[in-house]
Amino acid sequence: MRPRLSVRTLKRLLFAGAAVGGVGAVIVTVVPEVASRFHEIEASYSKMAEKVGLDKRLPNTSLMEQPSGSVMAFEDQRKQMYNPLPPRKDILKSLEEEEFDILVIGGGATGTGVALDAVTRGLKTSLVEKFDFASGTSSRSTKLIHGGVRYLQKAIFNLDIEQYRMVKESLTERANLLNIAPHLASSFPIMLPVYKWWQLPYYWAGIKMYDVVAGRQVLKPSYILSKTKALELFPMLKKDKLVGALVYYDGQHDDARMNVSLAITAVRYGASVANYTEVVSLLKTTDDDGKERVTGAHVKDRLSGREWDIKAKCVINATGPYTDRIRTLGKENIKKICQPSSGVHVVLPDYYSPESMGLLDPSTSDGRVIFFLPWQKVTVAGTTDRPCDVSDYPQPSEDEIQFILKEIRNYLSPDVEVRRGDVLSAWSGIRPLVSDPNKSDTQSIARNHIIEVADNKLITIAGGKWTTYRSMAEETVDRAVIACGLQPAQKCCTKGLLLDGAHGWSPTLFIRLVQDFGVENQVAQHLAATYGDKSFKVAKMCNLTGKRWPVLGKRLHEEYAYIEGEVKYAVREYACRAVDVLARRTRLAFTNVFAAKEALPRIVDIMAQELGWSEERKKEELEHADLFLRREMGLDIKQTSDVRLNFSKDEINQYVKRFKSLDYQNKGFITINDLRRYFKKIGERVSEDQLHDILSEVDLNRNAQVDLGEFLQLLNALRKIAEDNRGDTDIDYRRIAQLMTIRVIQMRHRTRNRNFGEEHPQSGFVADATLTGYHEQLDPVDKQDEGEDAPPEADPPEADPPEAETN
Ligand SMILES: Cc1cc2nc3c(=O)[nH]c(=O)nc-3n(C[C@H](O)[C@H](O)[C@H](O)COP(=O)(O)OP(=O)(O)OC[C@H]3O[C@@H](n4cnc5c(N)ncnc54)[C@H](O)[C@@H]3O)c2cc1C
Repeated sequence: MRPRLSVRTLKRLLFAGAAVGGVGAVIVTVVPEVASRFHEIEASYSKMAEKVGLDKRLPNTSLMEQPSGSVMAFEDQRKQMYNPLPPRKDILKSLEEEEFDILVIGGGATGTGVALDAVTRGLKTSLVEKFDFASGTSSRSTKLIHGGVRYLQKAIFNLDIEQYRMVKESLTERANLLNIAPHLASSFPIMLPVYKWWQLPYYWAGIKMYDVVAGRQVLKPSYILSKTKALELFPMLKKDKLVGALVYYDGQHDDARMNVSLAITAVRYGASVANYTEVVSLLKTTDDDGKERVTGAHVKDRLSGREWDIKAKCVINATGPYTDRIRTLGKENIKKICQPSSGVHVVLPDYYSPESMGLLDPSTSDGRVIFFLPWQKVTVAGTTDRPCDVSDYPQPSEDEIQFILKEIRNYLSPDVEVRRGDVLSAWSGIRPLVSDPNKSDTQSIARNHIIEVADNKLITIAGGKWTTYRSMAEETVDRAVIACGLQPAQKCCTKGLLLDGAHGWSPTLFIRLVQDFGVENQVAQHLAATYGDKSFKVAKMCNLTGKRWPVLGKRLHEEYAYIEGEVKYAVREYACRAVDVLARRTRLAFTNVFAAKEALPRIVDIMAQELGWSEERKKEELEHADLFLRREMGLDIKQTSDVRLNFSKDEINQYVKRFKSLDYQNKGFITINDLRRYFKKIGERVSEDQLHDILSEVDLNRNAQVDLGEFLQLLNALRKIAEDNRGDTDIDYRRIAQLMTIRVIQMRHRTRNRNFGEEHPQSGFVADATLTGYHEQLDPVDKQDEGEDAPPEADPPEADPPEAETN
């Protein structure tokens, strides 16, 4: 049969050919220029580093001299960064008593970026955030600092100059962000696996153009890999039909920490910035021309309940998904411009990806791209894109999690079993997609950010992306200066303006932490990569461990490098609630929701000491954080999903007894050894692999143990399969079903024979309980009953392998 080429394929081939030629020509002319610029930059930056006696790999301070703004000397910047942080109560006082040039609403990337821009121009600046800094979308991103390879493809295919400029701007901002916070952001290789030969030149041309458009801001040049080399670097990749791969570079960061750093840097430059302060209405006055103007906001401290007015010449709405809510406070009945869309990520263990190589799936089944990236010692995969409502508590859905897992399976080797039970956490972020209010077609989404200056001078900045927060802020403050007649002392100077922690950072700073403070190497690396030169302050806040080694730095959770001293430091940086530490000041909630739950009581204890919390407040914090983990971080997603126990009361009693008989040591859970013993007792031959499968499918919280809830859920799923023989429940129980169906049938026979009541569904008493409700359904007698089945006659205690080996 003759191979047929579709028009699309032909177009791609033509494009690939043309692009290869074009790129080749561009590279020949541009590369020498790029290289020489690199040397210039390197030279000036080494000179500066030498002058201040710091490591040669310090941030590129030459970028501080920007044509748009005035130069701020490195030493002046550094001095500012040692300005003490005023306590929150002093900030609230200043917000109440003083009058400001600018009041920013919203403490995400955009708002804190605007505040930093304004205050460094010499404008009297304030900012209020209704929860914690970065509590909105800005802590829930994919963590990439990128120009968007995909957008470039669109720009070229559609000859779209606007899109091209957007990519170009993002690439410039990418370089700036890596430069101003080198401790928090770094360049990062991403692999694009190729499974069809013709895609190789096609994608190669695309990523080479990405490098070329970045020009002298290119992070590292992209390259092509053979199949063997690709598998060497990314062994988890699916081998079958793999042709080769391409690797390109973007930036990666800790988004929440970057956001907090922006807020803290603004405070150090003199801005009054308060979290947990919500704008409830806008203040309006009528000017001499009889026109209404927004001149401040009425705010409420969400912690104390106190309310007051903040007066400002200019109010900037930077509330992301809440854009329209604030616009409506400015003027009722206006056309809405924000179309929120939810993006979910799932977190998997580190062994799913190599330590320093990400993966890009360029075409998922819904036409989006999915990233699969190592980050903070775990693997982050996402994202989805679904219209949603704006919510203070965005939640990931089981559907979205399953979608991501399914897409990942397409790219990973069949040896890497992608299991639902491996999901360590899942979160949703709301994209504030906006349409331009100045365009007649308000239905179409703006490609970039939009800035609206309303008649009443309320300024709205919305859309864009994390990467471009700085240029968005610059443009916004420029507009504010004109619209509200402000008089800044100087022009924008945030390009090259180092953030808190960057000035004294060097790539080897962590060694000093190990040597001078006796901190573990892994902890030291984490501190240096989070707080930069402020790591020493964090280390000084740590108590002695009482051990020979490490001398300082007790971990909050043994598996992660977050330490107790960070909690104290976070309080100095305005962390007000336990969830602030759990989710944003450390990233424990994002990286492992189970570990976060375990670390929570200790975090609450330390915060209680620092902030003088009562027992009642501690209890409230525990409950509040627990709800956050359950609702927003996917802790309880399986339990709170639609999985309902469809058992009669008698059946539940029966299964509880069964569980207890398996758990004959009364541990409250069963392990792989209990299952092994059980199958041996009933004469079922089950291999070690099958046992492993059973455990991994039902052990939803990945602790290598099956508790009663998980056990009932397993039986519930098996019942469903046995009844309707569908085999497609939302967890893949099929393998287990093959093993266990026979046991369920036996159990049901026994239930019938013992006349415990009629079987479901004919029974008049059909329990339709959620997992959390099953306890209430037990008879009090049964609750005390140790189980009808006697403990199995003592099996010769196998030399029990440590339970950890089971998973
Ligand atoms: C899933 C996903 C992945 C993404 N990945 C990337 C990426 O990899 N790279 C990238 O560059 N961009 C990425 N983005 C885009 C980027 O995250 C957003 O553009 C950016 O975080 C938006 O910041 P923001 O400050 O505008 O909004 P937000 O971070 O949501 O901040 C708005 C703040 O306003 C506060 N607020 C609301 N109402 C009030 C009020 N009445 N009073 C006081 N405060 C109020 C909120 O509490 C909130 O903290 C991603 C977005 C999503 C959704």
